[in-house]
Formats: sequence, C-alpha cells, structure tokens
Amino acid sequence: MSATKTEYKAFVGGEWVDSASGETMDVINPATGEVVAVVPSCVAEDVDRAVAAAAKALPEWLDKTPKDRSELLHSLADVLEENAEELAQLESLNVGKPLMASRDEMPFSTDNLRFFAGAARQLEGKSAGEYIQGYTSIIRREPLGIVGGICPWNYPLMMAVWKMGPALAAGNVQILKPSEQTPLSLLRFVQLAQEVIPAGVLQVVTGDGVPVGERLVAHPDVRLVSLTGDIATGKAIAKNAADTLKRVHLELGGKAPMVVFDDADPKAVAEGIRLGGYWNSGQDCTAGSRVIAGPKIYDKLLEELVPQVESLKVGDPMESDEIEMGSVISQSQQERILGFLERAKGATILTGGGTNGSRGFFVQPTIVTDVKQTDEIVQKEVFGPVVTVQRFADDDEAIRWANDVQYGLAASVWTRDIGRALNAVRRLQFGTVWVNDHLLPITSEMPHGGYKQSGYGKDMSIYSMEEYTQIKHAAFKLD
Ligand code: NAD
Repeated sequence: MSATKTEYKAFVGGEWVDSASGETMDVINPATGEVVAVVPSCVAEDVDRAVAAAAKALPEWLDKTPKDRSELLHSLADVLEENAEELAQLESLNVGKPLMASRDEMPFSTDNLRFFAGAARQLEGKSAGEYIQGYTSIIRREPLGIVGGICPWNYPLMMAVWKMGPALAAGNVQILKPSEQTPLSLLRFVQLAQEVIPAGVLQVVTGDGVPVGERLVAHPDVRLVSLTGDIATGKAIAKNAADTLKRVHLELGGKAPMVVFDDADPKAVAEGIRLGGYWNSGQDCTAGSRVIAGPKIYDKLLEELVPQVESLKVGDPMESDEIEMGSVISQSQQERILGFLERAKGATILTGGGTNGSRGFFVQPTIVTDVKQTDEIVQKEVFGPVVTVQRFADDDEAIRWANDVQYGLAASVWTRDIGRALNAVRRLQFGTVWVNDHLLPITSEMPHGGYKQSGYGKDMSIYSMEEYTQIKHAAFKLD
C-alpha cells in the first residue's frame, strides 16, 4: 500500500465534520515514519457538540427494543466482516503491525459485535415478586445514557469494538475517542457503516487526550467513561471523573509473568514466549514480559528460547505477508524502550537490544537476564518486544515475584502437575490466568480486566454489561 495522505473528518451527529478550531493533526505510519493521513484536531467544543447530538438521539434510541439494538450490532458486524481485509490493511499501515496480526483481529472483533448482539436480548433483572407484604417488586436493568469510550493505539479498532458492543447492546449512546496516533481504522469502519448508524447513537471525535478525552470525562451529561490506556491516564481520568461522580471503567497496563515450573516442556514454553512476549511488538497489556523459571529448567529454557526469538521475521508489514513483528508505535515509544535497556545496569542482553533498519521505529526482539526483582525493567511496563527471564529458587518465591508488581492484568503458569497449576491459579493476583499457554486464549464469552492497578471493570463477556447498565427497583402497591 502506498503512503498516500488521506483526509478524514470527525463523525458528529451523523455528519462528517472538521474541528471547531479548524486545526488538523498528522497520522504517521510508524514502520516508515511517513505521514499517511490527517484528521481533525478536535477541541472541547467538538465534544460538547457530540454530547448535544447524543442527547438528541437518546430518547428515540431508548424506545428501541432489544431486537432493534441487536440488529444494529449485527449490521455493524456485517460491515466489519465484509470489509475485513481493507480494515486490516489500514490497521497495519497505522500501527506498524504485521498483516497476519491485523487479519486475526477482524474476525475476533466481528465475533465480539455478534456476541453483544445476542447479549442485548438476554439482559435481565433477576428478582420479581412480593418481598414486602402488599407490594410487588421488579428489577429493571437500564442503560446509563450517554457514555464515552477512550481507546489506545495498540489494537485501535478492536478496543473500540470492545467498548461499542456492550454500550450499544445495553441501550446507551456512545462517543468514542480513538488514540491520536491511530484513529484511521475506527474512522474508516464508521464511514463504511454510516448508513446503519442512527445519527448521534455512535460518534467519533478525534484529537489529543487533552482536550478531547479530558472534556469527555468532565462533561456533566456523560454518565460513564471507559478507558483502555496507561495507569497514569487512568488515575487522571478517575480524578477528573470525581467532580461529576461519573462512573469509570479502567483497562490499564500490565506486566504479565509467565511462571515456568521445572516439570514444564522447555520447547513448548519457548514457543509460547515467542508468541506471548513479542506479539504486536510486545505492545500488549497482557504480553508475557516476565519469565520466572524454575532452577532446573532455566538453562534449557534459554537454550530453546534464544533461537526461537532470533527466528522472528521483523520488518515493514506492508512489504510482506510473512512479517511476524513490525515496528513499535512511535519514535518516543522506541526511545522509551531503549531507555529501559540502557538503565538496566548489571543485566545481560542475551539477544536484541538495538533498533532495526534505517527507517521507521523498530526495536529488535530482546531477551534480558541477570535482573533483580526490584529492577525497573522487572517492575515497570516496557510495552515493547523485551522479555526478562528470572530464575526462582522454590514455588513460593515464584508466586511472590509474580505478584510483586503494581499490575494485575494477566499471568500464565507452565506445568504438567495439575495440583501445582491449581494452587498457582488460586494464589496469583491477576484478572486472567492461563495454564500452559499465554495471550491467545481470549474469547468474547470470557471477561477481560485487571486486578490491582491494572484497573477495574471488565471488557467482553456478560460481565461487561454491569459497567454499562444500572439497576432500578420498582415497587407496585397491590391494593
Ligand atoms: P494512553 O493512556 O497514553 O492513551 C490512551 C487514551 O487516553 C488515548 O486515546 C489518549 O488520547 C487518552 N488520554 C490521554 N490523556 C488523557 C486524559 N488526561 N484524559 C482523557 N483521556 C486521555 O495509553 P496508550 O499509550 O494509547 O496505550 C498504551 C497503554 O494502554 C499501555 O499502558 C497498555 O498496557 C494499556 N492497554 C491496556 C489494555 C487492557 O485491556 N488493560 C489493553 C490495551 C492497552
């Protein structure tokens, strides 16, 4: 695909509009550093216009039946399915990620929309009956009204879809803000789907976190903001939301341990790390970035792992379908990752550690050993293709190290011993724990969300409907 510069607009009240400021911002292909598009650099006034359009659309949308809402979600899924290849190409162009990865995300996102199309018709308030003499009570599960969704750059369309499904299924109207770095796939998807979206029900406002995200959070008529992003952004949003006592749903960072017991199969684990640690250039909140290996398996595992990691095909995703790892998202992210490596004094870089090629923002797939539990590179999310490997002395130390970070999003355990696996699952403080795999076993039916500072609330599954609905008790006097 050539780097032609496409011009996009924001989608407000069913119309494609410029920012009230008239300003635009460049969108870059990080695999080449070239500008590929411009989008409106929206301001607070644009958010206010979107909220006004949402408020206008809400009464009619609230009158829709679950079947109507389900049909909209199925129509959105149809559009995604029919245009999956175009959207995957655009995603790879904007994120610098391999085509095989972008292509993988489209059917999963379609499935997610279809899951929520089904969920729209299954919402329930559990109790109905006479709990007070002379009265019948019923529970109604109702939408919140106008909700905001603030998205990250690592899975731009998929993260928007994860927010869109439950929001619309529950009967809310939604304003989405894509990352300023990766707005293209969502804008194109909405362009393709605009015929089926009632004006004001689903809107997209582009621009920076401040002012666009900030205003979405501050606006008194927005009843919930769902963020997928960094912990620092989550904290800023929770503080800002306090002024209007707005509900907040936070899917934040991670630092996933892969706990490898001595009885695991080193080859299978090495293959699991190749995928779980380096998928999407490690820019995944559940990336297996900390391998914690048993004393007996440690050496054999490294022997298997180094050639596995060195065999990753790295390059510009637009040049070949065979590329397995693309660039990272930006120059500043590249510098940030290399900074972690520079500061890791005393550590050994077994492979990688540098950049790739002369253009674009690449980081080589990297393995780091000889690190201490307290080291920055073990404690903080690098969000790049960097995996540390530690050697534990006994099972207790393994679990203690695994839990000893501020994050709690995902973890994996590798063992053939079912008792050991169950015990580890019980003790690990993470919202998802995989056994003998990492990263891949996620599905629309199962929840995804953090413990500790990885946030609160769930994406996907019927549990996410809790975020987007509120419960009403109605009591009827019987005589
Ligand atoms: P980020 O926090 O920098 O940005 C996320 C979004 O928040 C962007 O749209 C940004 O414009 C917006 N934003 C920034 N400041 C804001 C503010 N003050 N008010 C309102 N909105 C604001 O995150 P990122 O760099 O785009 O994404 C990477 C981070 O996302 C990583 O930490 C990663 O772990 C996390 N992540 C988490 C999950 C999950 O499910 N838990 C999934 C993907 C990514």
